[in-house]
Amino acid sequence: MTETIKPIVAVVGRPNVGKSTLVNRILGRREAVVQDQPGVTRDRVSYDANWNGREFVLVDTGGWMSDAQGMAAAIAEQAELAISLADAVLFVVDATVGTTDEDEAVVRVLRRSQKPVVLAANKVDDQRHEMMAATMWNLGLGEPFPVSALHGRGSGDLLDAVLNSIPEAPKETYEEVGGPRRVAIVGKPNVGKSSLLNKMAGETRVVVSDVSGTTVDPVDELVEIGGQVYRLIDTAGIRKRVKEASGHEYYASLRTQAAIERAEVCIMVVDASEPVSDQDLRILSNIEESGRALVIAFNKWDLTDEERRYYLDREIDRDLQAWKWAPTVNISALTGRNVDKLGKAIETAAAGWETRISTGKLNAFLGRLSAAHPHPVRSGKQPRILFGTQAQNCPPTFALFTSGKMDDTYVRYIERRLREDFGFEGSPVHVQIRARE
Ligand code: GDP
Ligand code: GDP
Repeated sequence: MTETIKPIVAVVGRPNVGKSTLVNRILGRREAVVQDQPGVTRDRVSYDANWNGREFVLVDTGGWMSDAQGMAAAIAEQAELAISLADAVLFVVDATVGTTDEDEAVVRVLRRSQKPVVLAANKVDDQRHEMMAATMWNLGLGEPFPVSALHGRGSGDLLDAVLNSIPEAPKETYEEVGGPRRVAIVGKPNVGKSSLLNKMAGETRVVVSDVSGTTVDPVDELVEIGGQVYRLIDTAGIRKRVKEASGHEYYASLRTQAAIERAEVCIMVVDASEPVSDQDLRILSNIEESGRALVIAFNKWDLTDEERRYYLDREIDRDLQAWKWAPTVNISALTGRNVDKLGKAIETAAAGWETRISTGKLNAFLGRLSAAHPHPVRSGKQPRILFGTQAQNCPPTFALFTSGKMDDTYVRYIERRLREDFGFEGSPVHVQIRARE
Protein backbone atom coordinates (compact mmCIF):
# COMPACT_ATOMS: atom_id res chain seq x y z
CA MET A 1 0.00 0.00 0.00
CA THR A 2 1.12 3.50 -0.64
CA GLU A 3 0.48 6.46 1.51
CA THR A 4 -0.44 9.68 -0.15
CA ILE A 5 0.61 13.07 1.05
CA LYS A 6 -2.24 15.48 1.40
CA PRO A 7 -1.69 18.86 -0.21
CA ILE A 8 -1.19 21.75 2.18
CA VAL A 9 -3.17 24.97 1.73
CA ALA A 10 -2.10 28.01 3.76
CA VAL A 11 -4.57 30.80 4.50
CA VAL A 12 -2.76 34.16 4.65
CA GLY A 13 -3.73 37.79 4.92
CA ARG A 14 -3.56 40.67 7.33
CA PRO A 15 -5.49 40.59 10.64
CA ASN A 16 -9.28 40.92 10.62
CA VAL A 17 -9.89 40.11 6.99
CA GLY A 18 -11.69 36.95 8.14
CA LYS A 19 -9.10 34.19 7.85
CA SER A 20 -10.25 32.30 10.94
CA THR A 21 -13.87 32.67 9.96
CA LEU A 22 -13.06 31.30 6.52
CA VAL A 23 -11.09 28.41 7.99
CA ASN A 24 -14.06 27.53 10.18
CA ARG A 25 -16.35 27.78 7.20
CA ILE A 26 -14.17 25.41 5.20
CA LEU A 27 -13.93 22.98 8.10
CA GLY A 28 -17.70 23.13 8.40
CA ARG A 29 -17.67 24.33 11.97
CA ARG A 30 -19.97 26.81 13.53
CA GLU A 31 -17.86 27.88 16.43
CA ALA A 32 -14.64 29.79 16.08
CA VAL A 33 -11.44 27.79 16.43
CA VAL A 34 -10.02 30.16 18.99
CA GLN A 35 -10.57 33.83 19.50
CA ASP A 36 -6.92 34.67 19.28
CA GLN A 37 -5.27 37.56 20.91
CA PRO A 38 -2.51 38.99 18.75
CA GLY A 39 0.77 37.32 19.59
CA VAL A 40 -0.81 34.47 21.49
CA THR A 41 0.44 31.12 20.32
CA ARG A 42 -1.75 28.22 19.46
CA ASP A 43 -0.99 24.54 19.59
CA ARG A 44 -2.87 23.45 16.55
CA VAL A 45 -2.47 25.46 13.43
CA SER A 46 -3.37 22.91 10.81
CA TYR A 47 -6.51 20.96 10.24
CA ASP A 48 -7.63 18.07 8.06
CA ALA A 49 -10.13 19.29 5.53
CA ASN A 50 -12.08 17.75 2.71
CA TRP A 51 -13.77 19.22 -0.32
CA ASN A 52 -15.65 17.10 -2.84
CA GLY A 53 -13.86 14.01 -1.59
CA ARG A 54 -10.45 15.55 -1.92
CA GLU A 55 -8.47 15.68 1.28
CA PHE A 56 -6.10 18.46 2.13
CA VAL A 57 -4.51 20.14 5.10
CA LEU A 58 -5.55 23.66 5.93
CA VAL A 59 -3.00 25.83 7.72
CA ASP A 60 -4.41 28.82 9.55
CA THR A 61 -1.88 31.61 9.92
CA GLY A 62 -4.42 33.87 11.61
CA GLY A 63 -3.94 35.25 15.07
CA TRP A 64 -0.27 35.97 14.85
CA MET A 65 1.26 39.38 14.84
CA SER A 66 4.86 40.37 15.23
CA ASP A 67 5.35 43.61 17.10
CA ALA A 68 8.92 44.31 16.15
CA GLN A 69 9.23 45.44 12.57
CA GLY A 70 5.98 47.11 11.75
CA MET A 71 2.81 45.58 10.51
CA ALA A 72 3.46 45.27 6.79
CA ALA A 73 6.86 43.64 7.26
CA ALA A 74 5.55 41.28 9.89
CA ILE A 75 2.68 40.16 7.70
CA ALA A 76 4.96 39.72 4.71
CA GLU A 77 7.19 37.50 6.79
CA GLN A 78 4.25 35.44 7.90
CA ALA A 79 3.23 35.02 4.27
CA GLU A 80 6.74 34.00 3.32
CA LEU A 81 6.69 31.28 5.92
CA ALA A 82 3.26 30.06 4.86
CA ILE A 83 4.35 29.93 1.24
CA SER A 84 7.42 27.87 2.03
CA LEU A 85 5.22 25.32 3.78
CA ALA A 86 2.25 25.13 1.48
CA ASP A 87 1.35 23.68 -1.90
CA ALA A 88 -1.08 26.51 -2.52
CA VAL A 89 -1.91 29.80 -0.86
CA LEU A 90 -5.35 31.16 -0.15
CA PHE A 91 -4.85 34.91 0.12
CA VAL A 92 -7.69 36.68 1.89
CA VAL A 93 -8.46 40.40 1.54
CA ASP A 94 -11.34 42.44 2.92
CA ALA A 95 -13.44 43.67 0.01
CA THR A 96 -15.23 46.21 2.18
CA VAL A 97 -11.95 47.96 3.00
CA GLY A 98 -10.15 47.70 -0.32
CA THR A 99 -6.45 47.05 -0.67
CA THR A 100 -4.10 48.33 2.01
CA ASP A 101 -0.33 48.67 2.32
CA GLU A 102 -0.29 45.44 4.29
CA ASP A 103 -2.09 43.62 1.49
CA GLU A 104 0.44 44.99 -0.99
CA ALA A 105 3.30 43.71 1.16
CA VAL A 106 1.88 40.21 1.02
CA VAL A 107 1.31 40.48 -2.72
CA ARG A 108 4.99 41.27 -3.30
CA VAL A 109 5.95 38.09 -1.47
CA LEU A 110 3.34 36.03 -3.29
CA ARG A 111 4.49 37.27 -6.69
CA ARG A 112 8.03 36.05 -6.04
CA SER A 113 6.86 32.58 -5.07
CA GLN A 114 6.20 29.79 -7.50
CA LYS A 115 3.22 28.56 -5.54
CA PRO A 116 -0.31 28.86 -6.87
CA VAL A 117 -2.29 31.66 -5.24
CA VAL A 118 -6.05 32.02 -5.07
CA LEU A 119 -7.42 35.40 -4.09
CA ALA A 120 -10.46 35.54 -1.81
CA ALA A 121 -12.24 38.90 -1.57
CA ASN A 122 -14.03 38.37 1.73
CA LYS A 123 -17.00 40.03 3.42
CA VAL A 124 -18.96 40.18 0.20
CA ASP A 125 -22.12 39.48 2.15
CA ASP A 126 -24.50 40.51 -0.63
CA GLN A 127 -24.74 41.49 -4.27
CA ARG A 128 -24.02 45.09 -3.39
CA HIS A 129 -20.44 44.28 -2.48
CA GLU A 130 -19.59 42.32 -5.63
CA MET A 131 -18.33 45.47 -7.32
CA MET A 132 -15.88 45.95 -4.48
CA ALA A 133 -14.53 42.45 -5.01
CA ALA A 134 -13.96 43.23 -8.68
CA THR A 135 -11.67 46.12 -7.77
CA MET A 136 -9.29 43.51 -6.31
CA TRP A 137 -8.21 42.64 -9.83
CA ASN A 138 -5.74 45.49 -9.31
CA LEU A 139 -3.65 43.25 -7.03
CA GLY A 140 -2.46 41.43 -10.14
CA LEU A 141 -3.18 38.00 -8.73
CA GLY A 142 -5.87 37.09 -11.21
CA GLU A 143 -9.56 36.68 -10.60
CA PRO A 144 -10.76 37.67 -7.13
CA PHE A 145 -13.30 35.21 -5.72
CA PRO A 146 -16.03 37.09 -3.90
CA VAL A 147 -16.87 35.23 -0.69
CA SER A 148 -18.60 35.77 2.59
CA ALA A 149 -16.91 33.61 5.17
CA LEU A 150 -19.57 34.64 7.63
CA HIS A 151 -22.50 33.48 5.52
CA GLY A 152 -20.79 30.81 3.45
CA ARG A 153 -21.32 32.65 0.21
CA GLY A 154 -18.98 31.67 -2.62
CA SER A 155 -16.80 29.35 -0.60
CA GLY A 156 -17.55 26.40 -2.88
CA ASP A 157 -16.21 28.11 -5.99
CA LEU A 158 -13.26 29.30 -3.98
CA LEU A 159 -12.36 25.78 -2.86
CA ASP A 160 -12.75 24.48 -6.39
CA ALA A 161 -10.25 27.08 -7.53
CA VAL A 162 -7.82 26.29 -4.72
CA LEU A 163 -7.87 22.55 -5.30
CA ASN A 164 -7.74 22.94 -9.07
CA SER A 165 -4.54 24.91 -8.59
CA ILE A 166 -2.87 21.89 -7.00
CA PRO A 167 -1.99 18.98 -9.29
CA GLU A 168 -4.38 16.10 -8.67
CA ALA A 169 -1.76 13.36 -8.52
CA PRO A 170 -0.25 13.01 -5.09
CA LYS A 171 3.10 14.74 -5.06
CA GLU A 172 4.96 11.89 -3.47
CA THR A 173 3.92 8.37 -2.77
CA TYR A 174 6.75 6.59 -1.14
CA GLU A 175 6.59 3.27 -2.89
CA GLU A 176 5.46 4.50 -6.27
CA VAL A 177 8.30 6.94 -6.62
CA GLY A 178 10.72 4.72 -4.77
CA GLY A 179 12.09 7.91 -3.30
CA PRO A 180 13.91 8.22 -0.02
CA ARG A 181 11.92 8.04 3.15
CA ARG A 182 10.76 11.39 4.45
CA VAL A 183 12.07 12.03 7.93
CA ALA A 184 11.38 15.09 10.06
CA ILE A 185 13.61 16.17 12.92
CA VAL A 186 11.33 17.83 15.45
CA GLY A 187 11.51 19.05 19.03
CA LYS A 188 11.30 22.24 21.04
CA PRO A 189 13.95 24.96 20.62
CA ASN A 190 17.54 24.31 21.76
CA VAL A 191 17.29 20.55 22.11
CA GLY A 192 19.90 20.13 19.38
CA LYS A 193 17.94 19.71 16.15
CA SER A 194 20.26 21.78 13.98
CA SER A 195 23.30 20.20 15.63
CA LEU A 196 21.90 16.77 14.79
CA LEU A 197 21.12 17.86 11.26
CA ASN A 198 24.67 19.15 10.80
CA LYS A 199 26.08 15.92 12.18
CA MET A 200 23.96 13.87 9.79
CA ALA A 201 24.38 16.08 6.77
CA GLY A 202 28.00 17.04 7.38
CA GLU A 203 29.30 13.52 7.31
CA THR A 204 27.16 11.95 4.68
CA ARG A 205 25.67 14.63 2.50
CA VAL A 206 24.18 13.24 -0.67
CA VAL A 207 24.17 15.13 -3.92
CA VAL A 208 20.58 15.34 -5.00
CA SER A 209 21.17 14.46 -8.64
CA ASP A 210 22.88 11.20 -7.60
CA VAL A 211 19.60 9.75 -6.45
CA SER A 212 17.47 8.96 -9.44
CA GLY A 213 13.82 9.86 -9.58
CA THR A 214 13.93 12.40 -6.81
CA THR A 215 12.73 15.89 -6.96
CA VAL A 216 13.65 17.48 -3.70
CA ASP A 217 11.95 20.48 -2.27
CA PRO A 218 14.50 23.26 -1.80
CA VAL A 219 13.84 23.17 1.92
CA ASP A 220 14.75 19.47 2.18
CA GLU A 221 18.09 17.69 2.22
CA LEU A 222 19.12 14.16 1.44
CA VAL A 223 21.40 12.39 3.89
CA GLU A 224 22.77 8.89 4.14
CA ILE A 225 22.68 6.88 7.35
CA GLY A 226 23.90 3.30 7.35
CA GLY A 227 23.90 3.09 3.57
CA GLN A 228 20.31 4.26 3.36
CA VAL A 229 19.34 7.61 1.89
CA TYR A 230 16.73 9.69 3.72
CA ARG A 231 15.02 12.89 2.86
CA LEU A 232 15.13 15.25 5.80
CA ILE A 233 12.08 17.49 5.73
CA ASP A 234 12.30 21.27 6.08
CA THR A 235 15.97 21.45 6.92
CA ALA A 236 15.84 25.09 5.80
CA GLY A 237 13.46 25.72 8.67
CA ILE A 238 15.79 24.04 11.14
CA ARG A 239 18.77 26.00 9.91
CA LYS A 240 17.01 29.33 9.74
CA ARG A 241 16.82 30.71 13.24
CA VAL A 242 13.84 32.96 13.64
CA LYS A 243 14.52 35.21 16.57
CA GLU A 244 11.54 37.57 16.91
CA ALA A 245 10.34 37.33 20.46
CA SER A 246 6.61 37.18 19.92
CA GLY A 247 6.57 35.27 16.68
CA HIS A 248 9.22 32.72 17.42
CA GLU A 249 7.11 30.11 19.12
CA TYR A 250 4.33 30.53 16.67
CA TYR A 251 6.72 30.06 13.73
CA ALA A 252 8.20 27.05 15.43
CA SER A 253 4.87 25.36 16.02
CA LEU A 254 3.68 26.11 12.50
CA ARG A 255 6.83 24.68 10.99
CA THR A 256 6.81 21.67 13.28
CA GLN A 257 3.25 20.84 12.37
CA ALA A 258 3.92 21.18 8.64
CA ALA A 259 7.07 19.06 8.88
CA ILE A 260 5.16 16.35 10.76
CA GLU A 261 2.46 16.35 8.08
CA ARG A 262 5.01 15.85 5.31
CA ALA A 263 7.04 13.19 7.09
CA GLU A 264 6.69 9.45 7.27
CA VAL A 265 8.93 9.13 10.31
CA CYS A 266 9.55 11.81 12.95
CA ILE A 267 12.70 11.92 15.02
CA MET A 268 11.59 13.61 18.21
CA VAL A 269 14.64 15.20 19.81
CA VAL A 270 14.46 15.51 23.59
CA ASP A 271 17.13 17.18 25.73
CA ALA A 272 18.16 14.36 28.08
CA SER A 273 20.02 16.78 30.33
CA GLU A 274 16.83 18.59 31.33
CA PRO A 275 13.46 17.49 32.70
CA VAL A 276 10.94 16.34 30.13
CA SER A 277 8.60 19.30 29.57
CA ASP A 278 5.00 19.92 28.58
CA GLN A 279 6.19 21.23 25.25
CA ASP A 280 7.89 17.89 24.56
CA LEU A 281 4.64 16.10 25.37
CA ARG A 282 2.62 18.40 23.11
CA ILE A 283 4.84 17.71 20.14
CA LEU A 284 4.74 13.98 20.84
CA SER A 285 0.93 14.17 20.92
CA ASN A 286 0.92 16.00 17.61
CA ILE A 287 3.07 13.32 16.01
CA GLU A 288 0.78 10.59 17.30
CA GLU A 289 -2.41 12.41 16.29
CA SER A 290 -0.97 13.00 12.85
CA GLY A 291 -0.38 9.27 12.61
CA ARG A 292 3.34 9.42 11.91
CA ALA A 293 5.99 6.88 12.84
CA LEU A 294 8.11 7.98 15.78
CA VAL A 295 11.67 7.63 17.01
CA ILE A 296 12.67 9.38 20.23
CA ALA A 297 16.26 10.66 20.37
CA PHE A 298 17.50 11.57 23.83
CA ASN A 299 20.16 14.12 22.94
CA LYS A 300 22.97 15.75 24.94
CA TRP A 301 23.71 12.38 26.48
CA ASP A 302 27.25 13.64 27.04
CA LEU A 303 25.84 16.08 29.59
CA THR A 304 24.05 13.44 31.66
CA ASP A 305 25.57 11.89 34.76
CA GLU A 306 24.34 8.91 36.71
CA GLU A 307 22.01 10.99 38.82
CA ARG A 308 20.42 12.71 35.84
CA ARG A 309 19.93 9.39 34.10
CA TYR A 310 18.21 8.04 37.21
CA TYR A 311 15.73 10.90 37.09
CA LEU A 312 15.31 10.63 33.34
CA ASP A 313 14.25 7.00 33.75
CA ARG A 314 11.63 8.14 36.26
CA GLU A 315 10.40 10.86 33.89
CA ILE A 316 10.17 8.38 31.05
CA ASP A 317 8.08 6.06 33.23
CA ARG A 318 5.86 8.88 34.39
CA ASP A 319 5.47 11.11 31.33
CA LEU A 320 6.38 9.12 28.25
CA GLN A 321 4.42 5.93 28.96
CA ALA A 322 1.97 6.80 26.19
CA TRP A 323 4.77 6.57 23.63
CA LYS A 324 6.66 3.61 24.97
CA TRP A 325 6.07 1.89 21.63
CA ALA A 326 8.58 4.25 20.05
CA PRO A 327 12.19 3.11 19.64
CA THR A 328 14.60 5.34 21.56
CA VAL A 329 18.25 6.17 20.94
CA ASN A 330 20.52 8.00 23.38
CA ILE A 331 22.63 10.32 21.29
CA SER A 332 24.99 13.24 21.40
CA ALA A 333 24.77 15.50 18.40
CA LEU A 334 27.92 17.15 19.71
CA THR A 335 30.18 14.09 19.87
CA GLY A 336 28.31 12.02 17.30
CA ARG A 337 27.57 9.29 19.82
CA ASN A 338 24.98 6.80 18.50
CA VAL A 339 23.87 9.11 15.71
CA ASP A 340 24.44 6.25 13.27
CA LYS A 341 21.98 4.13 15.29
CA LEU A 342 19.15 6.42 14.25
CA GLY A 343 19.09 4.67 10.87
CA LYS A 344 18.06 1.35 12.34
CA ALA A 345 15.49 3.02 14.58
CA ILE A 346 13.97 4.82 11.59
CA GLU A 347 13.73 1.55 9.69
CA THR A 348 12.10 -0.20 12.65
CA ALA A 349 9.53 2.56 13.06
CA ALA A 350 8.79 2.71 9.34
CA ALA A 351 8.30 -1.05 9.22
CA GLY A 352 5.86 -0.91 12.15
CA TRP A 353 4.02 1.91 10.46
CA GLU A 354 3.61 0.01 7.20
CA THR A 355 2.56 -3.30 8.76
CA ARG A 356 -0.47 -5.03 7.28
CA ILE A 357 -2.28 -7.82 9.07
CA SER A 358 -4.44 -10.10 6.98
CA THR A 359 -8.14 -10.16 7.80
CA GLY A 360 -7.83 -13.88 8.60
CA LYS A 361 -5.06 -13.40 11.11
CA LEU A 362 -6.78 -10.39 12.61
CA ASN A 363 -10.05 -12.24 13.19
CA ALA A 364 -8.28 -15.24 14.65
CA PHE A 365 -6.64 -12.81 17.06
CA LEU A 366 -9.96 -11.10 17.85
CA GLY A 367 -11.58 -14.50 18.45
CA ARG A 368 -8.88 -15.45 20.95
CA LEU A 369 -9.09 -12.09 22.63
CA SER A 370 -12.90 -12.14 22.97
CA ALA A 371 -12.85 -15.68 24.34
CA ALA A 372 -10.21 -14.93 26.95
CA HIS A 373 -11.36 -11.42 27.84
CA PRO A 374 -14.92 -10.66 26.77
CA HIS A 375 -16.26 -7.13 27.09
CA PRO A 376 -17.96 -6.58 30.47
CA VAL A 377 -21.77 -6.69 30.61
CA ARG A 378 -23.33 -3.20 30.45
CA SER A 379 -27.01 -2.72 31.40
CA GLY A 380 -27.67 -6.38 30.83
CA LYS A 381 -26.02 -6.43 27.41
CA GLN A 382 -22.64 -7.64 26.36
CA PRO A 383 -21.24 -5.95 23.25
CA ARG A 384 -19.39 -8.42 21.05
CA ILE A 385 -16.82 -7.95 18.30
CA LEU A 386 -18.47 -9.27 15.14
CA PHE A 387 -15.43 -8.96 12.94
CA GLY A 388 -12.57 -6.66 12.16
CA THR A 389 -10.48 -5.52 9.28
CA GLN A 390 -7.37 -3.43 8.87
CA ALA A 391 -8.77 -0.39 7.14
CA GLN A 392 -5.35 1.00 6.29
CA ASN A 393 -1.70 1.05 7.17
CA CYS A 394 0.65 4.02 7.60
CA PRO A 395 -0.32 3.95 10.46
CA PRO A 396 -2.13 0.65 11.08
CA THR A 397 -5.80 1.44 11.53
CA PHE A 398 -8.34 -1.20 12.44
CA ALA A 399 -12.08 -1.05 12.06
CA LEU A 400 -13.93 -3.36 14.41
CA PHE A 401 -17.60 -4.03 13.78
CA THR A 402 -19.37 -4.68 17.06
CA SER A 403 -22.84 -5.48 18.34
CA GLY A 404 -22.83 -2.43 20.60
CA LYS A 405 -20.83 0.44 21.97
CA MET A 406 -17.54 -0.52 23.58
CA ASP A 407 -15.91 0.98 26.68
CA ASP A 408 -12.84 3.12 26.01
CA THR A 409 -10.86 1.00 28.43
CA TYR A 410 -11.73 -2.10 26.45
CA VAL A 411 -10.70 -0.43 23.18
CA ARG A 412 -7.38 0.51 24.76
CA TYR A 413 -7.04 -3.06 25.93
CA ILE A 414 -7.51 -4.25 22.35
CA GLU A 415 -4.85 -1.79 21.19
CA ARG A 416 -2.44 -3.07 23.79
CA ARG A 417 -3.04 -6.69 22.84
CA LEU A 418 -2.66 -5.87 19.15
CA ARG A 419 0.78 -4.48 19.92
CA GLU A 420 1.69 -7.51 21.99
CA ASP A 421 0.81 -9.87 19.16
CA PHE A 422 1.84 -7.91 16.09
CA GLY A 423 4.41 -5.36 17.25
CA PHE A 424 3.86 -2.12 15.33
CA GLU A 425 6.99 -0.81 16.99
CA GLY A 426 7.43 2.91 16.39
CA SER A 427 3.93 3.44 15.03
CA PRO A 428 0.66 4.75 16.41
CA VAL A 429 -2.14 2.19 16.17
CA HIS A 430 -5.73 3.25 15.74
CA VAL A 431 -8.77 1.14 16.58
CA GLN A 432 -12.14 2.39 15.37
CA ILE A 433 -15.33 0.84 16.66
CA ARG A 434 -18.30 0.62 14.30
CA ALA A 435 -21.14 -0.33 16.59
CA ARG A 436 -24.31 -1.88 15.15
CA GLU A 437 -26.99 -0.40 17.36
P1 GDP B 1 -8.65 37.05 10.92
O1 GDP B 1 -7.94 37.93 11.89
O2 GDP B 1 -8.21 37.32 9.53
O3 GDP B 1 -8.57 35.60 11.29
O4 GDP B 1 -10.19 37.48 10.97
P2 GDP B 1 -11.45 36.85 11.74
O5 GDP B 1 -11.86 35.59 11.10
O6 GDP B 1 -11.13 36.81 13.20
O7 GDP B 1 -12.56 37.93 11.40
C1 GDP B 1 -12.43 39.30 11.78
C2 GDP B 1 -13.80 39.91 11.87
O8 GDP B 1 -14.43 39.97 10.58
C3 GDP B 1 -14.75 39.15 12.78
O9 GDP B 1 -15.49 40.07 13.52
C4 GDP B 1 -15.62 38.39 11.81
O10 GDP B 1 -16.88 38.09 12.33
C5 GDP B 1 -15.69 39.33 10.63
N1 GDP B 1 -15.93 38.64 9.37
C6 GDP B 1 -15.26 37.56 8.89
N2 GDP B 1 -15.76 37.18 7.70
C7 GDP B 1 -16.78 38.03 7.41
C8 GDP B 1 -17.71 38.14 6.32
O11 GDP B 1 -17.70 37.37 5.37
N3 GDP B 1 -18.61 39.16 6.38
C9 GDP B 1 -18.65 40.01 7.43
N4 GDP B 1 -19.57 40.96 7.40
N5 GDP B 1 -17.81 39.93 8.47
C10 GDP B 1 -16.88 38.96 8.48
P1 GDP C 1 17.91 23.52 18.07
O1 GDP C 1 17.33 24.82 18.48
O2 GDP C 1 17.03 22.37 18.52
O3 GDP C 1 18.24 23.43 16.62
O4 GDP C 1 19.25 23.33 18.94
P2 GDP C 1 20.78 23.58 18.51
O5 GDP C 1 21.26 22.50 17.61
O6 GDP C 1 20.95 24.97 18.07
O7 GDP C 1 21.49 23.36 19.92
C1 GDP C 1 21.26 24.21 21.03
C2 GDP C 1 22.50 24.21 21.89
O8 GDP C 1 22.74 22.91 22.41
C3 GDP C 1 23.74 24.60 21.12
O9 GDP C 1 24.54 25.39 21.97
C4 GDP C 1 24.42 23.27 20.83
O10 GDP C 1 25.81 23.37 20.72
C5 GDP C 1 24.05 22.48 22.06
N1 GDP C 1 23.99 21.02 21.79
C6 GDP C 1 23.30 20.40 20.81
N2 GDP C 1 23.49 19.06 20.91
C7 GDP C 1 24.29 18.84 21.95
C8 GDP C 1 24.85 17.66 22.54
O11 GDP C 1 24.61 16.53 22.13
N3 GDP C 1 25.64 17.83 23.64
C9 GDP C 1 25.92 19.07 24.14
N4 GDP C 1 26.72 19.14 25.19
N5 GDP C 1 25.41 20.19 23.60
C10 GDP C 1 24.62 20.08 22.52
